[in-house]
Amino acid sequence: MYNPIRLSSVLRLHMAPIKVLFLAAEAAPLIKIGGLGDVAGSLPAALSALPESPDVRVVLPLYPQIKKSSLDLTPVTSFEVFHKDGPLLTKVFQTEVNGVPFYLIDGPPVASSSVVYSGDNNLDGIKFTFFSLAAMELVKILKWKPDILHAHDWHAAPAVYHLRLIKNSDDFFRKTKSLLTVHNLPYLGHGAEGALQAFGLPRAHMSALPDWAEHLPLALGLLSADKINTVSPGYADEMLTPEFGAHLEGFLASRKADLTGILNGLDLVSWDPETDSSLPVRYSNDTLEKRTENKKLLLEELGLTPDVKVPLLAMINRMDYQKGVDLVPPALEMITDLNWQAVILGTGEKDLEETTRQLDLDHTRIRSVLKYDGALARRIYGGSDLILIPSRYEPCGLTQMIGMRYGCVPLARATGGLKDTIVDYQAEHSGKSTGFLFEEATSEALADSLRRALAVYHDQRRWQGLQRRGMKLDFSWERSAVEYLYLYLELLSGRRV
Ligand code: ADP
Repeated sequence: MYNPIRLSSVLRLHMAPIKVLFLAAEAAPLIKIGGLGDVAGSLPAALSALPESPDVRVVLPLYPQIKKSSLDLTPVTSFEVFHKDGPLLTKVFQTEVNGVPFYLIDGPPVASSSVVYSGDNNLDGIKFTFFSLAAMELVKILKWKPDILHAHDWHAAPAVYHLRLIKNSDDFFRKTKSLLTVHNLPYLGHGAEGALQAFGLPRAHMSALPDWAEHLPLALGLLSADKINTVSPGYADEMLTPEFGAHLEGFLASRKADLTGILNGLDLVSWDPETDSSLPVRYSNDTLEKRTENKKLLLEELGLTPDVKVPLLAMINRMDYQKGVDLVPPALEMITDLNWQAVILGTGEKDLEETTRQLDLDHTRIRSVLKYDGALARRIYGGSDLILIPSRYEPCGLTQMIGMRYGCVPLARATGGLKDTIVDYQAEHSGKSTGFLFEEATSEALADSLRRALAVYHDQRRWQGLQRRGMKLDFSWERSAVEYLYLYLELLSGRRV
């Protein structure tokens, strides 16, 4: 719980606002590919808005897409970054986003990259190692000594490892503590090992890491960070198990005392059914009945039977094995004896797209839309009844939070952030429930929970209870920011706050 008195007693130890150097490969609205971009866009602003106003500064690569935008960029400084084949000229520009200073790093490995993630980790490794080391050099030149280095995922992990290597011999960084946030553990940065060496970052021989991981960026970050967190408490626990630990569960167990989970927030301004301009009819918890008109219009738009009494199931997803998209077609086939319609929106793996396309062809009551369409996604959240999220693993997940905020009840696998945010419907204590959870990553388990959900749907009083409780939940970034502030203070004071 947020306790300003407790916070202020610890803050007194730090006369000036806490300085946080925030490194990520993407940050909305400058550049966003996935969930990491949402976090790095929203969290610094939410932190800066807290009464304790930490001084958060974000560093990003100056991707060609950002350079081409109309953003107002002020040159700050230039310097060289070591590379074994010769120094790399680095230029830094500054801008401000939502009141937060952003530094943008330009140099040959960034300028030559046409996309954020190329899929070639050797190339991306050069780009992100350069970016990480340049960010560390930048703050030295600015004489802006960070109290906390807060790095995200493998792309910024080389900065954490670099800090550990230089700390004892470098007065500037001697007191800087590091936090590494893991958004998706299996992405360890395989393929980037050569890049680390080329920038002078050696393998961590004889360390606690398994041999195969001692030259991988994220693993080195996990080894070196003073504290580690991930984006939900549930995923923090799961990371310690063979099923979710990406073969690092043994090593992570040795860091258990420093590993926590903090749920991501949701941009409550952008995701608000009361103001969402993509919705034909806007509504709130108090005017929930208006939602039916959205459903009617959505059914018409999709060419489905325009009967609002028939439950409309939805899935909006990256088509990926992680997301359990392959579990859905067989599960829907198993419940064809029941009355429902479905819409699936997504893009990704070709074979998953193909199966989904076939499902549409085989069933008139299923509509598959294989593209990325932000506005349609919003109309689906605002008009369908149940949102399916059968993920095999889910570090946090946004879809369930958006669904609940829009009165679209989530039905999800009980894993990671999904388990942490959804309370399963149990008839005996349904007064707290907000959705439906199933345990096994199988089509049978998914079909069973669909049957359970559809039975409740026919009791509209109970269904509306689920909708209303979900709509009332607080998924604000402010709540997450307070937890991060506690973690920073714990790092600085060396004790639990
Ligand atoms: P991840 O970042 O792992 O893909 P999240 O649940 O954190 O998953 O976020 C997914 C976001 O992307 C949600 O806002 C969801 O609505 C959106 N999304 C996914 N696929 C599509 C699509 N095809 N069209 C529009 N929005 C999509």
